[in-house]
Amino acid sequence: MAGVVDLVMEQRSSERSVQATPLASHGRPPQTFREGRVCRHPGCGTRLSIYNSNQHCYLHEPMVAVRIRGKKIA
Ligand SMILES: [Zn+2]
Repeated sequence: MAGVVDLVMEQRSSERSVQATPLASHGRPPQTFREGRVCRHPGCGTRLSIYNSNQHCYLHEPMVAVRIRGKKIA
């Protein structure tokens, strides 16, 4: 019966890895997150989408926060 135990453990570990890699397409429905979360940026309070795996809104998302500085466009 050892084979059954192995299978169960495998399923559990794969569930964990899915949480760490949001929006990975494995043929499953998109993972959703807790409703009513808000951006963690101080004073922002923007509600996050249940599909947003980040803890910040799109404005305060670290990756998007990179801006070109020191250049006058206008
Ligand atoms: Zn924000």
